[in-house]
Amino acid sequence: MSLDPEVVRKDFPIFETRMRGKRLVYLDSANTSQKPRQVIERIVEFYEHENANIHRAVYELAERSTAAYEGARAKCAHFIAAPSPRSIVFTRGTTESINLVRYSWARANVREGDEVLVTEMEHHSNLVPWQLLTQESGATLRHLPVTDDGMLRMDLLGDYITDKTKLVCVGLMSNVLGTINPVRQLADAIHAMGGLILVDAAQAAPHMPVDVSELDADFLAFSSHKMCGPTGAGVLYGRERLLEEMPPFHGGGEMIREVFADHSTWNEIPHKFEAGTMNIAQAVGLGAAVDYLHSLGMDSVRAHEMELTAYALERLNAVGAEVHGPSDVDQRGGAISFNVADVHPHDLATIVDQEGVCIRAGHHCAQPLMRRLGVPATARASLYIYNTREDVDVLMGALEQAKGWFA
Ligand code: PLP
Repeated sequence: MSLDPEVVRKDFPIFETRMRGKRLVYLDSANTSQKPRQVIERIVEFYEHENANIHRAVYELAERSTAAYEGARAKCAHFIAAPSPRSIVFTRGTTESINLVRYSWARANVREGDEVLVTEMEHHSNLVPWQLLTQESGATLRHLPVTDDGMLRMDLLGDYITDKTKLVCVGLMSNVLGTINPVRQLADAIHAMGGLILVDAAQAAPHMPVDVSELDADFLAFSSHKMCGPTGAGVLYGRERLLEEMPPFHGGGEMIREVFADHSTWNEIPHKFEAGTMNIAQAVGLGAAVDYLHSLGMDSVRAHEMELTAYALERLNAVGAEVHGPSDVDQRGGAISFNVADVHPHDLATIVDQEGVCIRAGHHCAQPLMRRLGVPATARASLYIYNTREDVDVLMGALEQAKGWFA
């Protein structure tokens, strides 16, 4: 089933908004996606008909809210082909999911002399927690280099994954380069050494089928707000065996089994990691976003974005932009970073905004990668299910204008 972005657009009320009287051309979905009516209405329905705190009360309304929340968990498990909802922990988003692993698993397992491997293309969310961990534990943080065309230096794997490596932390799809990384190969290499792999799927989960068994991921994180869901919700997938062994992250209500004056015992997984009142409506909204993406089909989502990415790359090359990352759409997603000679990315973003076009400019929370690319910042257009060739054409017209201003 192929995806028609003009039909998809109609599900998103925001596209009824005009920007300076012009069509809204939203090309910043890698930052946060727009929300379809189906998700917005599900959140309203929850607050109007099901709202109560979860897991705590015996009355019918609380049973409804608990069913909605736990139903969303089951949907998320299915979305990434996780073996059981027990392996799905709700968090505030990818950043919190990664920090959960840092505080819980890594603090208990990573020691002085051990190594944690990240890559040169990680988002700060999958870098800074590991800097903090290694500084605190005396372990060493290493960075797998990136080639000039934005691929991981897999030829160096033997040097970077050794019996000292306890954890590999890698993005499945880069938010800057669009690169889809060979995560399964990294998983096989680290598992052969007895270590674990954490996959940052913040950019992959919204855009392509993700299967934790195929990836052989030990942990995998993603955010609701980048995949048509609300802000304030996200997922940490963890192998059940690992989650069972891990100490809690936050302490408080719900994560306990029994509390004594001086100690406590812990609830079963995943509740052990969900302290206090969670973002219930947001989790329910994430469940609706999963339903929405399933109704389109993740294969169709990926196929549409490959086709549009190929078109955008061709047009960007034609206007003389310097595009970062792989040129083969089999190896990349639709987050496209580029520079246009002599025009600062912030100026570009400001000028195209005059035409109703939203793109991001800056370091994209990947400052070490900017240094590797030798640029202070890039402009980034990122594509999603509701983008059309017309959107790309409007961007190109605006870029031509920007070039004209600085000629
Ligand atoms: N990882 C990647 C690759 C991202 O692109 C982002 C957000 O841009 C994050 C992590 C952080 O996600 P969040 O801000 O939803 O926690």
